[in-house]
Amino acid sequence: MAGDISKEDFKQSVRQWAGKLKVHPSQIRIQKMSRKWASCSLNNRVSFSEDILLEDVKVQEYVIVHELLHLRVRNHGRLFSSLMALYLPDWEERSKLTRNVPRGDNAAI
Ligand SMILES: [Zn+2]
Repeated sequence: MAGDISKEDFKQSVRQWAGKLKVHPSQIRIQKMSRKWASCSLNNRVSFSEDILLEDVKVQEYVIVHELLHLRVRNHGRLFSSLMALYLPDWEERSKLTRNVPRGDNAAI
């Protein structure tokens, strides 16, 4: 299914996932970011690259869940991988669907 949704629809999807994951982002932003898909700050603000709006919805969900889970686990360790697998069992396949080169984030803090 093609992505290309509006910023508001995307933010709505982020809010829905935040509810499922039981996290509370202080702010959700969509902005120009050329090297990352997303980032989260220590005060729980999550930002997404506007390029994500053009990706497949499966990729969008992957990036959303990944970034929101950083509000619970701030690294990419074992616990993080288990949570990803719990909420999105096929996350590894989704991560390969990106049209752009895979990008990371800055959550390893
Ligand atoms: Zn990450």
